[in-house]
Amino acid sequence: MSWKDIIGHGSQIKFLIQAWKTNRLGQAYFFHGLDGVGKRTIAVEFGKALLCQSARGNFEACDECPSCKLVDVDNHPDLQRHFCPRDVHEFPRELMKEICDNFSLKSSRGGAKVLVIDDCDLLNEESGNIFLKSLEEPPPQSIIFLIGTSVERQLETILSRCQKLAFHGLSNAEVELVLSTKNIEGVPDLKRIASACGGSISQALMMTNPEFSKIEEFFLTEIIAPVPDPVKLIKMVVDFVENAGKDSSSQRGRARWLIQCVLAWLRTQMIVKSNGSPNPSPRFQLPGTVEMGKVLAMIEACFQAENQMQRRVQLQLVIQWWIDGLIWADTVAPFSSPVGHV
Ligand SMILES: [Zn+2]
Repeated sequence: MSWKDIIGHGSQIKFLIQAWKTNRLGQAYFFHGLDGVGKRTIAVEFGKALLCQSARGNFEACDECPSCKLVDVDNHPDLQRHFCPRDVHEFPRELMKEICDNFSLKSSRGGAKVLVIDDCDLLNEESGNIFLKSLEEPPPQSIIFLIGTSVERQLETILSRCQKLAFHGLSNAEVELVLSTKNIEGVPDLKRIASACGGSISQALMMTNPEFSKIEEFFLTEIIAPVPDPVKLIKMVVDFVENAGKDSSSQRGRARWLIQCVLAWLRTQMIVKSNGSPNPSPRFQLPGTVEMGKVLAMIEACFQAENQMQRRVQLQLVIQWWIDGLIWADTVAPFSSPVGHV
């Protein structure tokens, strides 16, 4: 892999390379932004170039030296990648202690040391404090990349010692380009997926899964049925997210994916209703339709659910409130005028 194989984030990559070229590389960077847009890939690629034994002109890893080959198989002793274990909700202090002890050792191959820590949203006060020492007294020639979804969720003590770099969702064209390199068979509507995935490759990949399409169609059909069954729908969605495994970020990914699907469908409804044109490429032939007031209220319910997920409200509760919000959207009617209450 080289920089040109990375799609999107040109200015962030340029910024890092420029910092290296002008000898102004920071000791710690915090990459923040949506999941699945390439933050970790860029951190690792940067570390690889830094450790490469024959890096080419534009700070480019050679891909051939022993160091590059070790990074490619995630076995380079001086480039460590860590993330929160799948079965816990917070970064365990023991693991963080181990990471820091290891990082403080001398470089094994005599060059730089690179530490990449993903899931920084899950650092708690305890693991954060342990990590603080590594941030304050990093080993010589080392660089730390921390990865999280938003600045708001980080501990101020950590954040204040890092240079922050924001990563935005990829454009539709960039998502399409990435998907076209993945050899996904039998997915004719890459354009639709690219426009509905919110700029996240991990979301887009979920959408290419035929099993997920079935879930999407079933959910949409049920939610606009004349008499939807909230209990059945909540159970279905909870089962679906829990089938992602114990990893809370995978579970949230699935929930976010379904919310994005509903939002994409609601947006199509708005276009059809506002300009009267038929849906240009109907994804599913759903048996019903929804009034404009309800469409807007349903969109509001989706935004609220996304907001609650960002604030780490318990996922089951988010799902329950979201589905109730979708079903009862027209009775709540947040966009109607308050007539009848005089
Ligand atoms: Zn190399």
